[in-house]
Amino acid sequence: MAKVLDKQTSEAVRERIRFYRELGVWDFYRRDVPEELRAQLAAQSQVESAPESIEIESEREELAKATKAAQTSAPAAPVKIGAPLPETSPAARISALKVIREDIGDCTRCVLHKQGRKQIVFGVGNTQADIMFVGEAPGADEDEQGEPFVGRAGQLLNNMIQAMGIKREDVYIANVCKCRPPNNRTPEKEESDTCSPFLMRQIAVVRPKVIVALGAVASKALLSVNDSMANLRGKLYDFEAKVQPGVPEDIGFSTKLVVTYHPAYLLRDPRQKKETWKDLQMVMKYLGMAVPKKAEE
Ligand code: URA
Repeated sequence: MAKVLDKQTSEAVRERIRFYRELGVWDFYRRDVPEELRAQLAAQSQVESAPESIEIESEREELAKATKAAQTSAPAAPVKIGAPLPETSPAARISALKVIREDIGDCTRCVLHKQGRKQIVFGVGNTQADIMFVGEAPGADEDEQGEPFVGRAGQLLNNMIQAMGIKREDVYIANVCKCRPPNNRTPEKEESDTCSPFLMRQIAVVRPKVIVALGAVASKALLSVNDSMANLRGKLYDFEAKVQPGVPEDIGFSTKLVVTYHPAYLLRDPRQKKETWKDLQMVMKYLGMAVPKKAEE
Protein backbone atom coordinates (compact mmCIF):
# COMPACT_ATOMS: atom_id res chain seq x y z
CA MET A 1 0.00 0.00 0.00
CA ALA A 2 1.44 3.39 -0.98
CA LYS A 3 2.23 5.59 2.01
CA VAL A 4 2.66 9.34 2.08
CA LEU A 5 5.77 10.18 4.06
CA ASP A 6 5.51 12.81 6.75
CA LYS A 7 7.56 15.99 6.30
CA GLN A 8 10.34 14.98 8.67
CA THR A 9 10.77 11.54 7.09
CA SER A 10 10.76 12.85 3.54
CA GLU A 11 13.39 15.45 4.49
CA ALA A 12 15.49 12.70 6.07
CA VAL A 13 15.12 10.57 2.91
CA ARG A 14 16.08 13.53 0.71
CA GLU A 15 19.15 14.18 2.89
CA ARG A 16 20.14 10.50 2.68
CA ILE A 17 19.84 10.52 -1.13
CA ARG A 18 21.92 13.70 -1.31
CA PHE A 19 24.56 12.02 0.85
CA TYR A 20 24.69 8.90 -1.39
CA ARG A 21 24.97 11.09 -4.50
CA GLU A 22 27.93 12.90 -2.99
CA LEU A 23 29.52 9.50 -2.52
CA GLY A 24 28.91 8.72 -6.19
CA VAL A 25 26.08 6.23 -5.56
CA TRP A 26 23.21 6.75 -8.01
CA ASP A 27 21.34 3.45 -8.11
CA PHE A 28 18.89 2.53 -5.36
CA TYR A 29 16.99 -0.69 -4.93
CA ARG A 30 14.08 -1.46 -2.63
CA ARG A 31 14.75 -4.36 -0.36
CA ASP A 32 12.52 -7.31 -1.21
CA VAL A 33 9.86 -8.10 1.37
CA PRO A 34 9.47 -11.83 2.12
CA GLU A 35 6.11 -13.29 1.10
CA GLU A 36 5.30 -14.29 4.70
CA LEU A 37 5.81 -10.76 6.01
CA ARG A 38 3.79 -9.35 3.12
CA ALA A 39 0.84 -11.57 4.08
CA GLN A 40 1.22 -10.67 7.73
CA LEU A 41 1.19 -6.97 6.86
CA ALA A 42 -1.83 -7.34 4.63
CA ALA A 43 -3.65 -9.04 7.52
CA GLN A 44 -2.83 -6.20 9.86
CA SER A 45 -5.01 -3.64 8.13
CA GLN A 46 -4.31 -1.07 10.81
CA VAL A 47 -0.60 -1.14 9.96
CA GLU A 48 0.07 1.28 7.18
CA SER A 49 3.79 1.87 7.44
CA ALA A 50 6.17 0.83 4.67
CA PRO A 51 7.52 -2.74 5.04
CA GLU A 52 11.11 -1.51 5.30
CA SER A 53 10.40 0.62 8.33
CA ILE A 54 8.53 -2.23 9.98
CA GLU A 55 11.49 -4.48 9.36
CA ILE A 56 13.80 -1.96 10.97
CA GLU A 57 11.47 -1.49 13.96
CA SER A 58 11.17 -5.21 14.61
CA GLU A 59 14.95 -5.61 14.33
CA ARG A 60 15.35 -2.80 16.82
CA GLU A 61 12.94 -4.45 19.23
CA GLU A 62 14.78 -7.76 18.83
CA LEU A 63 18.09 -6.07 19.51
CA ALA A 64 16.72 -4.24 22.56
CA LYS A 65 15.30 -7.54 23.90
CA ALA A 66 18.56 -9.39 23.30
CA THR A 67 20.61 -6.66 24.96
CA LYS A 68 18.25 -6.58 27.96
CA ALA A 69 18.41 -10.36 28.29
CA ALA A 70 22.19 -10.30 28.06
CA GLN A 71 22.39 -7.54 30.66
CA THR A 72 20.11 -9.26 33.14
CA SER A 73 21.85 -12.60 32.68
CA ALA A 74 25.33 -11.05 33.03
CA PRO A 75 27.28 -12.67 35.84
CA ALA A 76 27.34 -10.50 38.96
CA ALA A 77 31.06 -11.09 39.54
CA PRO A 78 33.43 -9.14 37.30
CA VAL A 79 35.87 -11.04 35.06
CA LYS A 80 38.78 -12.17 37.23
CA ILE A 81 42.16 -10.51 36.66
CA GLY A 82 44.31 -12.74 34.48
CA ALA A 83 41.46 -15.09 33.55
CA PRO A 84 41.10 -15.81 29.82
CA LEU A 85 38.32 -13.71 28.33
CA PRO A 86 35.29 -15.69 27.11
CA GLU A 87 35.32 -15.26 23.35
CA THR A 88 31.73 -15.09 22.26
CA SER A 89 29.08 -14.60 24.90
CA PRO A 90 27.45 -11.14 24.74
CA ALA A 91 26.89 -11.27 28.50
CA ALA A 92 30.60 -11.83 29.13
CA ARG A 93 31.54 -8.97 26.84
CA ILE A 94 29.05 -6.59 28.46
CA SER A 95 30.43 -7.61 31.84
CA ALA A 96 34.05 -7.16 30.69
CA LEU A 97 33.26 -3.70 29.31
CA LYS A 98 31.63 -2.80 32.63
CA VAL A 99 34.85 -3.75 34.39
CA ILE A 100 36.85 -1.48 32.06
CA ARG A 101 34.39 1.36 32.72
CA GLU A 102 34.75 0.78 36.45
CA ASP A 103 38.54 0.79 36.09
CA ILE A 104 38.37 4.20 34.43
CA GLY A 105 36.28 5.39 37.38
CA ASP A 106 35.93 9.13 37.87
CA CYS A 107 39.23 9.52 36.06
CA THR A 108 41.81 12.12 37.09
CA ARG A 109 44.74 10.58 35.20
CA CYS A 110 45.23 13.56 32.84
CA VAL A 111 44.46 17.27 32.88
CA LEU A 112 41.19 16.89 30.99
CA HIS A 113 39.39 16.01 34.22
CA LYS A 114 39.84 19.59 35.44
CA GLN A 115 39.22 21.34 32.14
CA GLY A 116 35.44 21.33 32.07
CA ARG A 117 34.48 17.79 31.08
CA LYS A 118 31.00 16.91 32.32
CA GLN A 119 31.32 13.16 32.10
CA ILE A 120 33.39 10.32 30.76
CA VAL A 121 32.20 9.12 27.35
CA PHE A 122 33.03 5.45 27.29
CA GLY A 123 31.71 3.85 24.10
CA VAL A 124 28.52 2.43 22.67
CA GLY A 125 27.21 -0.25 20.37
CA ASN A 126 27.12 -3.90 19.55
CA THR A 127 29.62 -5.82 21.68
CA GLN A 128 29.74 -8.49 18.95
CA ALA A 129 30.37 -5.97 16.17
CA ASP A 130 32.46 -6.83 13.12
CA ILE A 131 33.31 -3.15 12.71
CA MET A 132 34.51 -0.73 15.35
CA PHE A 133 34.78 2.99 14.62
CA VAL A 134 37.29 4.95 16.67
CA GLY A 135 37.21 8.74 16.91
CA GLU A 136 39.30 11.33 18.68
CA ALA A 137 37.49 12.64 21.75
CA PRO A 138 33.98 13.72 22.73
CA GLY A 139 32.67 17.12 21.67
CA ALA A 140 30.06 19.25 23.47
CA ASP A 141 27.06 17.07 22.51
CA GLU A 142 28.83 13.86 23.46
CA ASP A 143 29.98 15.38 26.77
CA GLU A 144 26.38 16.36 27.46
CA GLN A 145 24.81 13.01 26.49
CA GLY A 146 27.58 10.60 27.50
CA GLU A 147 27.61 8.86 24.12
CA PRO A 148 30.19 9.15 21.32
CA PHE A 149 29.30 10.71 17.98
CA VAL A 150 25.85 12.11 18.71
CA GLY A 151 26.40 15.64 17.35
CA ARG A 152 26.73 16.82 13.73
CA ALA A 153 29.80 14.68 13.07
CA GLY A 154 27.85 11.79 14.57
CA GLN A 155 24.97 12.33 12.14
CA LEU A 156 27.44 12.13 9.29
CA LEU A 157 29.01 9.00 10.79
CA ASN A 158 25.52 7.47 10.97
CA ASN A 159 25.06 8.25 7.27
CA MET A 160 28.40 6.65 6.48
CA ILE A 161 27.40 3.53 8.41
CA GLN A 162 24.03 3.42 6.67
CA ALA A 163 25.70 3.83 3.28
CA MET A 164 27.51 0.57 4.08
CA GLY A 165 24.12 -1.14 4.36
CA ILE A 166 24.23 -1.50 8.15
CA LYS A 167 22.96 0.43 11.16
CA ARG A 168 24.64 2.32 13.98
CA GLU A 169 23.38 -0.41 16.33
CA ASP A 170 25.41 -2.99 14.38
CA VAL A 171 28.81 -1.42 15.07
CA TYR A 172 30.77 -0.40 18.15
CA ILE A 173 31.87 3.24 18.52
CA ALA A 174 34.49 4.65 20.88
CA ASN A 175 37.06 7.41 21.11
CA VAL A 176 40.75 7.48 21.96
CA CYS A 177 40.13 10.06 24.70
CA LYS A 178 37.11 9.61 26.91
CA CYS A 179 36.93 13.22 28.07
CA ARG A 180 36.08 16.35 26.12
CA PRO A 181 39.09 18.64 25.54
CA PRO A 182 38.24 22.31 26.22
CA ASN A 183 36.86 24.11 23.15
CA ASN A 184 37.20 20.84 21.23
CA ARG A 185 40.93 21.31 20.87
CA THR A 186 42.95 18.36 19.58
CA PRO A 187 43.94 16.08 22.46
CA GLU A 188 47.60 16.34 23.48
CA LYS A 189 49.72 13.24 22.89
CA GLU A 190 50.03 12.76 26.64
CA GLU A 191 46.23 12.74 26.97
CA SER A 192 45.84 10.19 24.15
CA ASP A 193 48.62 8.04 25.60
CA THR A 194 47.03 8.10 29.05
CA CYS A 195 43.59 7.13 27.77
CA SER A 196 44.39 4.72 24.92
CA PRO A 197 45.09 1.66 27.17
CA PHE A 198 41.35 1.65 27.94
CA LEU A 199 40.55 1.80 24.23
CA MET A 200 42.92 -1.14 23.64
CA ARG A 201 41.01 -3.11 26.27
CA GLN A 202 37.67 -2.20 24.67
CA ILE A 203 39.02 -3.43 21.32
CA ALA A 204 40.24 -6.66 22.90
CA VAL A 205 36.78 -7.29 24.37
CA VAL A 206 34.69 -6.41 21.30
CA ARG A 207 37.18 -8.17 18.98
CA PRO A 208 36.02 -6.46 15.76
CA LYS A 209 37.11 -7.87 12.40
CA VAL A 210 38.00 -4.35 11.25
CA ILE A 211 38.70 -1.11 13.09
CA VAL A 212 38.00 2.11 11.22
CA ALA A 213 40.23 4.88 12.57
CA LEU A 214 38.50 8.22 12.05
CA GLY A 215 41.02 10.99 11.47
CA ALA A 216 44.62 11.62 12.37
CA VAL A 217 44.41 11.46 16.16
CA ALA A 218 42.80 8.00 16.20
CA SER A 219 45.02 6.70 13.39
CA LYS A 220 48.23 7.86 15.04
CA ALA A 221 47.20 6.59 18.47
CA LEU A 222 46.19 3.16 17.16
CA LEU A 223 49.06 2.64 14.74
CA SER A 224 51.69 4.38 16.93
CA VAL A 225 52.91 6.35 13.93
CA ASN A 226 53.24 10.02 13.12
CA ASP A 227 52.32 10.38 9.47
CA SER A 228 49.95 12.39 7.29
CA MET A 229 46.42 11.19 6.49
CA ALA A 230 47.44 11.10 2.82
CA ASN A 231 50.11 8.51 3.61
CA LEU A 232 48.06 6.59 6.13
CA ARG A 233 44.90 6.10 4.04
CA GLY A 234 44.32 3.43 1.42
CA LYS A 235 45.77 0.43 3.26
CA LEU A 236 44.44 -2.52 5.19
CA TYR A 237 46.72 -2.65 8.22
CA ASP A 238 47.45 -5.56 10.52
CA PHE A 239 46.64 -4.27 13.98
CA GLU A 240 47.49 -5.69 17.36
CA ALA A 241 45.77 -4.36 20.47
CA LYS A 242 48.48 -3.29 22.89
CA VAL A 243 46.91 -4.45 26.11
CA GLN A 244 48.83 -3.91 29.33
CA PRO A 245 49.96 -7.05 31.15
CA GLY A 246 47.74 -8.08 34.05
CA VAL A 247 44.39 -6.78 32.81
CA PRO A 248 41.70 -9.40 32.00
CA GLU A 249 42.06 -8.77 28.25
CA ASP A 250 45.76 -9.62 28.33
CA ILE A 251 45.38 -12.62 26.00
CA GLY A 252 46.33 -10.79 22.82
CA PHE A 253 44.13 -9.71 19.96
CA SER A 254 44.97 -8.98 16.33
CA THR A 255 42.70 -7.62 13.64
CA LYS A 256 42.64 -5.34 10.58
CA LEU A 257 42.54 -1.55 10.55
CA VAL A 258 41.57 1.02 7.93
CA VAL A 259 42.26 4.75 8.19
CA THR A 260 39.76 7.29 6.92
CA TYR A 261 38.84 10.93 7.32
CA HIS A 262 37.11 12.15 10.47
CA PRO A 263 33.44 13.06 9.87
CA ALA A 264 34.05 16.53 11.36
CA TYR A 265 36.67 17.10 8.67
CA LEU A 266 34.19 15.91 6.03
CA LEU A 267 31.71 18.51 7.27
CA ARG A 268 34.35 21.14 6.54
CA ASP A 269 35.47 19.59 3.24
CA PRO A 270 32.64 17.47 1.76
CA ARG A 271 34.69 16.81 -1.40
CA GLN A 272 36.59 14.20 0.60
CA LYS A 273 33.43 12.11 1.10
CA LYS A 274 34.24 10.25 -2.13
CA GLU A 275 37.65 9.31 -0.75
CA THR A 276 36.05 8.22 2.50
CA TRP A 277 33.62 6.05 0.58
CA LYS A 278 36.62 4.32 -1.04
CA ASP A 279 37.99 3.53 2.42
CA LEU A 280 34.63 2.18 3.55
CA GLN A 281 34.39 0.06 0.41
CA MET A 282 37.76 -1.45 1.32
CA VAL A 283 36.24 -2.45 4.68
CA MET A 284 33.12 -3.83 3.01
CA LYS A 285 35.11 -5.87 0.49
CA TYR A 286 37.31 -7.30 3.22
CA LEU A 287 34.23 -8.35 5.19
CA GLY A 288 32.47 -9.73 2.09
CA MET A 289 29.69 -7.15 2.32
CA ALA A 290 27.80 -6.22 -0.86
CA VAL A 291 29.07 -2.98 -2.37
CA PRO A 292 26.60 -1.04 -4.59
CA LYS A 293 27.61 -1.70 -8.25
CA LYS A 294 28.03 1.90 -9.40
CA ALA A 295 30.03 2.77 -6.31
CA GLU A 296 32.59 0.08 -7.06
CA GLU A 297 33.97 1.91 -10.12
N1 URA B 1 34.39 13.70 17.39
C1 URA B 1 35.01 12.59 17.89
O1 URA B 1 36.16 12.31 17.54
N2 URA B 1 34.34 11.84 18.73
C2 URA B 1 33.10 12.08 19.11
O2 URA B 1 32.55 11.31 19.89
C3 URA B 1 32.47 13.22 18.58
C4 URA B 1 33.13 14.02 17.73
